[in-house]
Amino acid sequence: MIFRAMPPFDLAAVRGRVPPDPLTRFAPSPTGYLHLGHVANAIWVWGVARALGGRVLLRIEDHDRGRSRTGYERAALEDLDWLGLVPDLGLPEELRAGASPYRQSDCAEVYAAALERLRGRARVYACDCSRRDIALEAGDVFDQETRYPGRCRNRGLVERDGVGVRMVLTDGTETFADLRLGETAQAPARQCGDLLLRDRAGNWTYQFAVVVDDLRHEVDLVIRGEDLLPSTGRQILLGRMLGRERPPMFLHHPLIRKENGAKLSKSSGDTGVRELRATGATPERVLGQAAWSTGLLARSEPISAGELPSLFT
Ligand SMILES: [Zn+2]
Repeated sequence: MIFRAMPPFDLAAVRGRVPPDPLTRFAPSPTGYLHLGHVANAIWVWGVARALGGRVLLRIEDHDRGRSRTGYERAALEDLDWLGLVPDLGLPEELRAGASPYRQSDCAEVYAAALERLRGRARVYACDCSRRDIALEAGDVFDQETRYPGRCRNRGLVERDGVGVRMVLTDGTETFADLRLGETAQAPARQCGDLLLRDRAGNWTYQFAVVVDDLRHEVDLVIRGEDLLPSTGRQILLGRMLGRERPPMFLHHPLIRKENGAKLSKSSGDTGVRELRATGATPERVLGQAAWSTGLLARSEPISAGELPSLFT
């Protein structure tokens, strides 16, 4: 008997709004070990996908080559396997095959081609600003986010190593119906200013890479934490510029809280899946703890991967 919390939304209503057999994704960055926050996200991803008869794609978001480690990728795959969370696309064999479409660092040409496509549709320019430059000049913080002040827009810098690339964001409002939070309106140009596509170190940015990936992988349902809600409008806008006719549907779920109410961070050693495994926790207990901490269970009790869809129905 599972003491489920109140259903987080009306699955029947959602069913009519997402495509049949939706494709969603679980997309860890291998810059650390998985912790309960990742597990909570995985529960939403697999639970909602399975409840809707959909599929899950596993994508390795190692666009930041300086911080990503193959050891963390291997550990993430092993932890998911231990938890009983099996993707339908981006399986370990597919990732091992080399030049995998599911690992961002294998896809540099894909992003380069997307940037070329974008040049015909948007204004793209070189930017050599450091974070510090932007913080000093910006002084313009919108909802805790530092807005790029447009310093390089008309400087005519030449693109070369050590210089980043931005896209001009024109004023306007993006609206979308989040499956849990309802109608949402955002003004990307006011929030973040011109969007960074490639940074000064030559890394494709998170914002650019995920939009290109969701388009080429035909992801039509994005399920992720509320911390990424402010990114949604700019990603819809960028997707449209890249030729995406219909944006994916979005579902932003609550972030997990620890018992003392503090927000979880990667440095919280007590919530790492590795640490919990080492203390003898079972997969069911780890899933149960994560499900409770994201509001899906009324109390922390074991639940198996196969039972996750029942949290949403
Ligand atoms: Zn700049």
